Parts: sequence; C-alpha cells; structure tokens
Amino acid sequence: ANALVIENLQKTYKGGVHAVKGISLTVNQGDFFALLGPNGAGKSTTIGIISSLVQKTTGSVKVFGFDIDQQLEEAKLCIGLVPQEFNFNQFETVLQIVVNQAGYYGVPRHIAFQRAEKYLSQLDLWEKRDSQARALSGGMKRRLMIARALMHQPKLLILDEPTAGVDIELRRSMWEFLKEINQQGVTIILTTHYLEEAEMLCRNIGIIDKGLLIECTSMKSLLSKL
Ligand code: ADP
Ligand code: ADP
Repeated sequence: ANALVIENLQKTYKGGVHAVKGISLTVNQGDFFALLGPNGAGKSTTIGIISSLVQKTTGSVKVFGFDIDQQLEEAKLCIGLVPQEFNFNQFETVLQIVVNQAGYYGVPRHIAFQRAEKYLSQLDLWEKRDSQARALSGGMKRRLMIARALMHQPKLLILDEPTAGVDIELRRSMWEFLKEINQQGVTIILTTHYLEEAEMLCRNIGIIDKGLLIECTSMKSLLSKL
C-alpha cells in the first residue's frame, strides 16, 4: 500500500515565488523516507501541502488513499506533523500540551494519559511533565513536538528538519527513537539538509532542488554512486 502519492504538485506563492515546480513522488507504507535538499529547495512547502497547512496551486496528493481535496479529514487523521517552529502554548505544561492534542482528535482522556506517559517517558520528558513548555531547553521542546504529533497514533509521521540546531548526542537519541517508531509500523517522512542524517535513518530518499525532484532512489543505491 502507498502511504503517500503525490502527482505533479506545484506551488506558486502570492508574490510569484514558484516554490514547487511539478513534483511526483510515492512513499510506501512502512518506509522511512528523507526529502533532502538545500535551503529554499521547496521541502517545507511540499510537506506543508501534504499536511494541509499550505494550499497547493495544482497537482494531487493522496495520503493512505485519501485525496486531500476530497477527503481532507480522513487524510489529516493519518498524519502527525512536527513542524520546524515551536507552535505550542509556552504557558501550558508538557502534559497539558500532549493531552490536549489527543483531545483535538477525540482520544478518550484516560487513553490520552496512558499515551502521554508512554511517549513522554520514551522521549525522556516524563520528569518534565508539570513544567511549562517555556522552561524547557530547545532539545526538549523539539522532543515535545514529536510526542505531541504521536498522540493520535498517526500512520504517517512527518518531520520538518527535526534535528536542526540539536547537538550530536541528542540527535543520536532522537534518531534511535524515530527508528523504533518506524519499526513499530509508522511510516516516516523527514526533511533534512544533512546527508548524514538521511544515511543513518532512511531507506529511500528524494532529492529536491529549486522546486524539482532531481533524484528519487533507495539510500543504498544513492550511496553506491557517491
Ligand atoms: P525549504 O524547506 O527547502 O528550505 P521552502 O519550501 O521553505 O524550502 O521554500 C521554498 C521557496 O518558497 C523559497 O524561495 C522560499 O523563500 C519561498 N517561500 C516559502 N514560504 C513562503 C511564503 N509563505 N510566501 C512566499 N514565499 C515563500
Ligand atoms: P490552540 O490555538 O488551541 O492552542 P493550535 O493553534 O496549536 O491550537 O492548533 C490548532 C489546531 O491545529 C488544533 O486542532 C491542533 O490539533 C492542530 N495542530 C497544531 N499543531 C499540530 C501538529 N503539530 N500536528 C497535528 N495537528 C496540529
């Protein structure tokens, strides 16, 4: 089955920037997929469209078979998004942030608390559950974003530059966590501009430059060419 099918996706922002110029891409269920490319290549725009934060200009996007034009709610339920910017309420506690997120998705409260304990513990945040988000370090905030995105148990986790600005030790532990989530069956798509990160984690890779997908292949075959 396909987790994601994108056909001829294009995005021109108001003002005329042609950020995505016709991208077609398929990601299989269970895959760990990297979108690699330099700043400004169109990675955030692409995942913004997939997760319906950004309006596309033309093209089609299907998430687990749900077309985002026709079955947006079903598509959204499949997706957990970890955007680059911290967009939680800084004055809420860690526990409130993740439990409320589950609430938005209709997860019963007692289940939300069970999941919160599980994910916050795995991400080494359980001790911080009663701290306001603003008191967390950058790395902790990043992990909080990941825990929050998992609270409705999405089939597809999308992360935009998840380890940007994170030190190497924490980066490694986040990688381990993501690998484990993927092994449990969650399809993962992340954007990165570190080839090393893609190499450590991903089975397949798409390289984006100037709004075009210039390569889409397995990590193995890419590395054999370098
Ligand atoms: P990446 O994630 O690969 O760094 P982006 O998708 O953020 O690339 O950006 C692609 C291009 O679109 C860049 O030229 C960027 O300046 C432009 N862009 C991104 N967001 C907006 C926006 N909201 N309005 C106008 N232009 C934008
Ligand atoms: P509020 O204004 O209530 O604090 P937000 O503006 O943070 O909420 O979010 C508005 C909606 O977008 C909520 O329904 C929330 O579930 C959803 N949302 C925000 N961030 C994410 C994310 N990272 N992943 C999935 N859904 C999100």
